[in-house]
Amino acid sequence: MQPLFLEPVFKERIWGGTALYDQFGYSIPSKNTGECWAVSGHPNGQSIVNAGKYKGRTLSDLWKNNRELFGNYPSPVFPLLTKILDANADLSIQVHPDDEYAKKYVNGELGKTECWYIVDCKENAEIILGHFAKSKKELADKVEKGQWDQLLNRIIVKPGDFFYVPAGTIHALCEGILVLETQQSSDITYRVYDYGRKGRNGIKRELHLEKALEVIHVPSINNKIQPIVEKQGENTITIFIQTREFTVYKWGICEEAKMVQDQPFQLVSVINGTGMLIANGETYTIQKGDHFILPAQIGEITINGNFEAIVSHPKT
Ligand code: ZN
Repeated sequence: MQPLFLEPVFKERIWGGTALYDQFGYSIPSKNTGECWAVSGHPNGQSIVNAGKYKGRTLSDLWKNNRELFGNYPSPVFPLLTKILDANADLSIQVHPDDEYAKKYVNGELGKTECWYIVDCKENAEIILGHFAKSKKELADKVEKGQWDQLLNRIIVKPGDFFYVPAGTIHALCEGILVLETQQSSDITYRVYDYGRKGRNGIKRELHLEKALEVIHVPSINNKIQPIVEKQGENTITIFIQTREFTVYKWGICEEAKMVQDQPFQLVSVINGTGMLIANGETYTIQKGDHFILPAQIGEITINGNFEAIVSHPKT
């Protein structure tokens, strides 16, 4: 068993910029690159294995035909999606449906609960997370009148912050934030407000108010998290969140560590620094911008160097 190193897929967005090149050195398609789909089995942007025995295979192909790599995890689709988002401008204010709504109204898609690790941001950068309406009527009323300042909860963020964005939570990244997002593998977004912007074709992007108002939870869902920080020698493991969709944590590595990969599989994204990963007698150099999956049965791994990584796995 080897780690599965993956080739990211990039998406141009009207709010995107060049941070994915500036900070990660990726070769991006344009100066408006908004999203790096780093670990994805979603049909809208598939990761391809870029080395080793499975080189050239897509993640969804492996999921379908080599499920043993993923501990025979019972899900029709690869359940998680890791992205890095460059919010060079404000993203639209939006909401995503939950599994139940997606199952009923959107063929074959999961709901979309997501969470954000702030990799970098400008000073006093903000996110929008949740609202103050006390009833659906008040929510609809304030949306209709465009009373965003009274409605939306704004939070100032800093690098290293982590936010949980359950399905049904109204949210947006604002200008000047680079985020690593771990989410359910889904591509359903209902746009509530887009600042009146026009897309590159000169036409305003579509809003989906009716659906959005259906799926926004009132009152806003409590999304407070309580990270658990564990010291293991000099290394720090921070468990940010454990939900029914995913567990997400951070490795802060500065000395050699041995770990047993005891999950069906784990997604690893290196966000800083460099190091080595040794598995089954093979040594792999890992560095900022690398994304890989630790498959089932890879067994004990050794890691060393000086790096940080965001790691996730689905609920087991
Ligand atoms: Zn979102």
